[in-house]
Amino acid sequence: MRKVFLGVLGMLTLGVANAQEKGIMNNTKSPSVKFKSIDIGDCHWTSGFWADKFKKAEEVMVPYMGEVLTGDVGHALNNFKIVAGLKEGKHKGMKWHDGDFYKWMEASMYIYAQNKDPKILKELDEYIDIIGKAQAPDGYIQTQVQAFTDRERFGNRQYHEMYNAGHLFTAACIHNRITGKTNFLDIAIKQADFLYKTFMPEPKGDLKRFGFNQTQIMGLVELYRTTQDDRYLKLAELFINLRGKSGVEPSSVAGYKFIGDMVQERTPLRKAKTAEGHAVLALYFYAGAADVYAETGEQALIDALDRLWSNVVNKKMYVTGAVGQTHHGVSSHVDMVHEGFINEYMMPNLTAYNETCANICNSMFSYRMLGLHGEAKYADIMELVLFNSALSGISIEGKDYFYANPLRVSHKGYDPGNDTEFDVRQPYIPCFCCPPNLVRTIAKLSGWAYSLTSNGVAVNLFGGNELSTKMLDGSKLKLTQESQYPWQGNVTLTVDKCKRDAFDILVRIPEWAKGTTVKVNGKDAGYKVIPGQYLTMNKKWRKGDVITLDMPMEIKLLEGNPLIEEVRNQAAVKRGPVVYCVESPDLPNNTEVLDVYLPFDSKLTANYKPDFLGGVTTISGALAIRKDKNEAMYNEVSKPTWETKNVQLVPYFSWANRGVSEMSVWLPVLWNK
Ligand SMILES: [Zn+2]
Repeated sequence: MRKVFLGVLGMLTLGVANAQEKGIMNNTKSPSVKFKSIDIGDCHWTSGFWADKFKKAEEVMVPYMGEVLTGDVGHALNNFKIVAGLKEGKHKGMKWHDGDFYKWMEASMYIYAQNKDPKILKELDEYIDIIGKAQAPDGYIQTQVQAFTDRERFGNRQYHEMYNAGHLFTAACIHNRITGKTNFLDIAIKQADFLYKTFMPEPKGDLKRFGFNQTQIMGLVELYRTTQDDRYLKLAELFINLRGKSGVEPSSVAGYKFIGDMVQERTPLRKAKTAEGHAVLALYFYAGAADVYAETGEQALIDALDRLWSNVVNKKMYVTGAVGQTHHGVSSHVDMVHEGFINEYMMPNLTAYNETCANICNSMFSYRMLGLHGEAKYADIMELVLFNSALSGISIEGKDYFYANPLRVSHKGYDPGNDTEFDVRQPYIPCFCCPPNLVRTIAKLSGWAYSLTSNGVAVNLFGGNELSTKMLDGSKLKLTQESQYPWQGNVTLTVDKCKRDAFDILVRIPEWAKGTTVKVNGKDAGYKVIPGQYLTMNKKWRKGDVITLDMPMEIKLLEGNPLIEEVRNQAAVKRGPVVYCVESPDLPNNTEVLDVYLPFDSKLTANYKPDFLGGVTTISGALAIRKDKNEAMYNEVSKPTWETKNVQLVPYFSWANRGVSEMSVWLPVLWNK
């Protein structure tokens, strides 16, 4: 008996020692997290959609972006070299350019975690060495401020010192977890200690109004998790507490365009009821606050985050998962807003901003909420973003980008006239925040595919992959997932290795997947399958056990809430998690996208095309094209003339890969009552 007891005790101790501490988020010990990260590299895509995208990231996206950023066009590495005294020349690029380089480095680390190519590690070490030489002796680093003598540290919060620092902290923690090295982490710690000295205890005057684009909150929490130094957690919390304390007044550090709701400064976060302001700023802030809650368990914080998440996805989000309805507008409290949220249900298509970063931030916030609550609705939003408004930000080839992601593009006399909304994808955007954000997301996605629960594993994302991990009790678990998702709805999960005791396998049943069936070893195991929830299967699993999931991949027409005036009497086509659009290369010559209507009774069929747009399922059916022209602002109604054509719809993410084109997700419906 005593021997058995000691054996169990030994296993428990071993279990704690084996706890996962190398996840994208190291939240194994975070008291308020239900779904914990698997270690980076424990899951790798083997076949299908995400395997193809990862391969593209490995072979094209990350190397190409590296060439750009370490070369003279991107100039990011040059900036560090100039400040380090290793190169002559002038600093070029935006205030947040350092942060965008750190994001690319992070993407490169995720690739290394999978392929272990020593060349990647060697290059990263060279860059880290240069960054270390650029860092001031007291720990400060922001190359633009350091390079220009007329700029003072914290002279304006738009210098993005906190944003750059946040991405540095995150990238350094990831580097440490993947490589075990501390060279990058040491730089991050030095910078974090500098920030701690500068901002703690609570600063006075204008320092209260930092930061701007607050990735430092997420980064500081991750640094706390890496080092166990709770000063970093306290500092992260301070940046939440400072919001709402400064009034809506311009000052020398806060220009009149960037105050109040625009930067989530009007209302203290714990009292916020609606998502306001710049969408990227807001969602990075909320994501950071979710990380702080994960450690502190403060009820007021999670109550606010629950309200804000719900407000975003139920009243301010596009059908593609995109967020940030406008380039310029006003908040609910009539503060000036840029690139951000406006009124609930006000969802313009043609002028939608939907910055790629904002959409990705929506999935990052949702991933954190998934961890905190363990509910499928959060993973549904992650997936919606990933397959639609995130991937739309990069070309199929992997080298050209979109910054804004509207749901309709027309060249009929409409010119957005701004510097981030483009007609065609761009090989380089001077404001380069989105491309590396997207590439690092694609590169790390296998780390989001599964989570660890108290006595099991949760399947969050579908796609061919292999998981080789340790559960939270230290026992080994191997699973193989086979699927051609999202083009097909069947998923097979095979248990390759597991402990002898019973444990949970949780499988997400997407909210749209009505009629899904789940079998274990070919038989209906009697589980009640509820779309929008995780199905929890507890049993003594054995090697060779097979779970099969069959999600009906019907083509569905979606309509908006009647309060969304911009989509009244229009429908969007969706199949599984993928939203479709009509694009001008698929229309008869000289057809404008604004003339295309969808007959309600049109029979739509899906067709997988392996050699088209990187391999996609298209949807075809008869669409009505209006032939009479209405050029005036308003026209007297007369019976329209129509032409019916069989037209192919393509996944929204794959549009703009065939030259200059027009596109629309929402199509006016012709009812045949
Ligand atoms: Zn961006």
